Amino acid sequence: MSNYQPLPIEFISGSGVWLYDTQGQRYLDALSGIAVCGLGHAHTAVQEAISDQAGKLIHTSNLYHIPLQEKLAEKLVQHSGMDKVFFGNSGAEANEAAIKLARLYASSKNMLNPVIVVMDKSFHGRTLATLSATGNPKIQKGFDPLVGGFKHIPYNNIDALNALPHENATIVAVMVEPILGEGGVVLPDVGYLTAIRKFCDDHACLMMVDEIQTGLCRTGKWFAFQHEAIMPDVITLAKALGNGVPIGACLAKGKSAELFQPGSHGSTFGGNPLASRAALAVIEVLESQLLDQRAAQLGNRLLEGFKRTLHDVPGIKEIRGRGLMLGIELEQDASDLAALALKEKLLINITAGNVIRLLPPLIMSDAEADQMVTILSGVIKTCCI
Ligand SMILES: *Cc1c(COP(=O)(O)O)cnc(C)c1O
Repeated sequence: MSNYQPLPIEFISGSGVWLYDTQGQRYLDALSGIAVCGLGHAHTAVQEAISDQAGKLIHTSNLYHIPLQEKLAEKLVQHSGMDKVFFGNSGAEANEAAIKLARLYASSKNMLNPVIVVMDKSFHGRTLATLSATGNPKIQKGFDPLVGGFKHIPYNNIDALNALPHENATIVAVMVEPILGEGGVVLPDVGYLTAIRKFCDDHACLMMVDEIQTGLCRTGKWFAFQHEAIMPDVITLAKALGNGVPIGACLAKGKSAELFQPGSHGSTFGGNPLASRAALAVIEVLESQLLDQRAAQLGNRLLEGFKRTLHDVPGIKEIRGRGLMLGIELEQDASDLAALALKEKLLINITAGNVIRLLPPLIMSDAEADQMVTILSGVIKTCCI
């Protein structure tokens, strides 16, 4: 079906931060398959884990205990401070689980018409419920009637949250990305998540953080919410968790972690031995290589590099980012830039129309980071001057 518009290129292999096309030409990957291949391509630890597990056991179903899934849950709980985990196969499924937890929480409190507060310009997925939660009319267009029970307010605006009427206690949860990803790499003000936490405490509703793009060391911490001194009730993960093997997770703490009971939710594939083994390998590399700290370091290097090479280039509105989640916002529409960069053998992505989004692998070298700055600055200069 024609729901994608792929660029005219086919990759057949990869290694680290590099991808190779059918002609053997190599490309510098500043996107990691949209924040998925955090460990780069063909990482030995992931490859060995998958091959070994494929030779032992791929799938049994959740009708039986899956020790690898339990081990993975323990790791996630340990790094996040959550209590329990549900596994699915994608980000949308992780958010579906979070939305279902919010509905169950409302039901446990006998709330009749519960509302989940979500943000304008947010992205939460493409299933019917998650696209209804998403704050982008383009993604919702043509899919009416949308799933009800979502209230959109502006991102990074605590006044808008506090101004919501809540006398009859209809708000059951606030769902938020710690940094807007698809929305244009938008970093909220310091204290934003803390203020949401306070709102949720004051009104006994759940704070649900969508870490699908930001999670697993990308922003310089294991999870982006950890840049503030708060603990959410629910966290969703996917993208980088399996380094390309599909897996998603919904983590919950306290009362939220007790809402699912046998029969309330499920997934045939979710957390199967193969996906769990891949994700365990990913986590072990993140841990042993201290890739949270490395992402912070590399991110600063890239930010400084771009600020230096682009400081006198007109047409650049802002260069921003946290760790290896960076955005270069242009004054003009930048839609053509991904194709131009491809000609220079660099993979980037344009989001929100005028933001160049960079989500490079966490394993790149300083030299590769510098190369990224040189190539992309060149592309921006030729197109914007
Ligand atoms: C990618 C993404 C999703 C959706 O994940 P899928 O695996 O494509 O379903 C949800 N939320 C955020 C913040 C994302 O970046």
